[in-house]
Amino acid sequence: MSKTSAVKAPLEAKSPFEMRVNLSKELPETDVQSALDSGDMGFLHSFTTGSTVDGPGVRVVAWTTGCMWRCRYCHNPDTWTMRNGYPISVSQAAEELRKYRHGLKVMSGGLTVSGGEPLMQHRFVLKLLKAAKDMGVHTTIETNGFLGSQLTDADFESIDLVMLGLKKWDPQGHKELTGREIGPTLELGRRLAAQKRPIWIRFVLVPNLTDDLDDIKKIAEFAAGLGNVERVEVLPFHQLGRFKWKELGIKYHLENTEAPTAEAAEKACAVFRAAGLKAN
Ligand code: SF4
Repeated sequence: MSKTSAVKAPLEAKSPFEMRVNLSKELPETDVQSALDSGDMGFLHSFTTGSTVDGPGVRVVAWTTGCMWRCRYCHNPDTWTMRNGYPISVSQAAEELRKYRHGLKVMSGGLTVSGGEPLMQHRFVLKLLKAAKDMGVHTTIETNGFLGSQLTDADFESIDLVMLGLKKWDPQGHKELTGREIGPTLELGRRLAAQKRPIWIRFVLVPNLTDDLDDIKKIAEFAAGLGNVERVEVLPFHQLGRFKWKELGIKYHLENTEAPTAEAAEKACAVFRAAGLKAN
């Protein structure tokens, strides 16, 4: 991709719940492919600032586009398609981050790259994380782990924290929920454990979908067995993304699903705690 074809994007969003589509629609396929191959450019849904829920401290979050999973509870299905994101060079994205670097350090925060699935454009993401590290900014990725094999052990040096989504233990249930197998996610967890690199587990609690306590127990036992899981975040399902499914014309299976009760969320946390993990 030529540098001139990069869009000067109004990157910042109030939240990732802003609907964004077709922002790279005009780009030729060869440009998209060369961006992915070189990693000099990537595709972002948006930047958000001031997040206190996407890693330690206060975070700038770069939301990437592109995801190979189709989670039934996904609240940002507009991030599934790479071309829905703005094409942006590594240097543009790093300059955006640079504006916040001092404040991020003061607030014990950093950069989180989320999505979508960041590893769909792992070369770009690694270059951005490296640029952040060079500025002295703490780095986190939030990933479903399916493409963890794209990361070499040396690549882990650019990532201070991995927030790993564990969604369901039962293989058949996992496939129905996400469209893909859980194996590669577990393998990434094991590799990070072998290198003693910290993980935060993210688990989305959805009534009648992921709330089976025996299933949660198996996830908890796996996570506890790794030895490098610093905390587990039990995230209650919500309907903030429902309008996106409707506007994108995608069948939404959770139309009538309600948020879990506080009691149900506490029960799930208790399962993780019983395995010896810190959970909230
Ligand atoms: S992995 Fe994340 S972005 Fe991808 S479908 Fe699942 S919830 Fe959505």
